[in-house]
Amino acid sequence: MKTAAQYEESLRGLNFKVYLQGELVENPVDHPIIRPSMNSVKATYALAEDPQYEELMTATSHLSGEKINRFCHLHQNTEDLVKKVKMQRLLGQQTAACFQRCVGMDAINAVDSVTFEMDQKLGTNYHERFVKFLTRMQEEDWTVDGAMTDPKGDRGLAPSQQEDPDLFVHVVEKREDGIVVSGAKAHQTGALNSHWILVMPTIAMGKNDADYAVSFTAPADEDGIIYIYGRQSCDTRKLEGGDIDVGNKQFGGHEALMVFDNVFIPWENVFMCGEYEFSGSLVERFAGYHRQSYGGCKVGVGDVLIGAVALAADYNGAAKASHIKDKLIEMVHLNETLYSCGIACSAEGHKTASGTYLIDLLLANVCKQNVTRFPYEIARLAEDIAGGLMVTMPSEKDLRHPEIGKVVEKYFKGVAFVPTEHRMRILRLVENLTLGTAAVGYRTESMHGAGSPQAQRIMISRQANLAQKKELAKAIAGISTK
Ligand code: SF4
Ligand code: FE
Repeated sequence: MKTAAQYEESLRGLNFKVYLQGELVENPVDHPIIRPSMNSVKATYALAEDPQYEELMTATSHLSGEKINRFCHLHQNTEDLVKKVKMQRLLGQQTAACFQRCVGMDAINAVDSVTFEMDQKLGTNYHERFVKFLTRMQEEDWTVDGAMTDPKGDRGLAPSQQEDPDLFVHVVEKREDGIVVSGAKAHQTGALNSHWILVMPTIAMGKNDADYAVSFTAPADEDGIIYIYGRQSCDTRKLEGGDIDVGNKQFGGHEALMVFDNVFIPWENVFMCGEYEFSGSLVERFAGYHRQSYGGCKVGVGDVLIGAVALAADYNGAAKASHIKDKLIEMVHLNETLYSCGIACSAEGHKTASGTYLIDLLLANVCKQNVTRFPYEIARLAEDIAGGLMVTMPSEKDLRHPEIGKVVEKYFKGVAFVPTEHRMRILRLVENLTLGTAAVGYRTESMHGAGSPQAQRIMISRQANLAQKKELAKAIAGISTK
């Protein structure tokens, strides 16, 4: 396994072409806007080195028998699925941000079982290629960016009907030695902190969309791939050099547009090419795993948010008020309900044909559907408890100012024994999680990440088995229609 330091060093060796606010970034690792997101991924390496987290952060490879980082592991049983969620809660607690590496873990687990089933049915050899890639990924302890979401253009049209063919990633040329692909993947989590990318189709495809039913892996800094870095609310505060106003100085997450301009992919790295009838199950499984993931990561970040507002209440002298206590209980209740769903869909997982375990898809979709709602209510309660000062407070520079600093100190004090600076720090953290850079990961991503609410409702309706429920009701009500 790589140490955290080796991980950072390995990124320095990559040659990304990334634009951020209209400029080509020379050194993404040390860029003040990007670096906190790198620190979050780095934490997935650092925690794996720590003996107290060994059980959650590492696993035994079913391929080599070696100890590997759990982010490179294929789930071998339901216990692995449960540990995955617990690991994500732990990392959410430690970073209060999106630590990005889950998309690759969820992608390898989905691609594994789908390529196996594809080969069984069609006589292809995608699974063997995939296992070779996975072997290297485990040996090198790579961070892999699972890339699914295409820009999609006109949502009313299939990929092949779009005016611009590049709105979905597609094969532009098939050669003897490989394929050439063009198109883009939108809002790619952790792209610039990844060694490799693993591309999958974004929707179930029909016959006419066969060129769009493509899955492959490529080095993240491959020639022909460019990135355009996504803006986040309050991101330029990271350029100010202070450490209070950013709310979370050390950690963050990122998303980027990933553009493929005629990128060559050798056959050994291609895992689907035209087998459109399997694109639906690849999407369904990757999305299912990532919907499970949210029952871990968002809960861990929620733990930090609940802790932050409990402190804010202490610092305000309001902690004993019964309505504050009740609101904190409600936040915990909602947060643990999300966790319960993450654990439940894991415990109810089952073995697929390849041997890799898949979560219970109905419960994973219920998990994510709750995530589209509860973090919003948790954030609402957090803002309620924190108070309006969270968004009206002066800057760190005012606090540090030789003259007005004393005024800030005096008028923004809560209870006498807590320094004003502590109160400001905790309110900025709440702001960061609910409205600032981390709100991408905690709020809006809770809505749209791993698929928007309607995508889960479609899956819930497919898995609901209403016919069986009707039979149950008929049996109890004494209705015989046989
Ligand atoms: Fe992992 Fe959560 Fe970020 Fe997805 S949103 S990559 S599950 S931390
Ligand atoms: Fe996500």
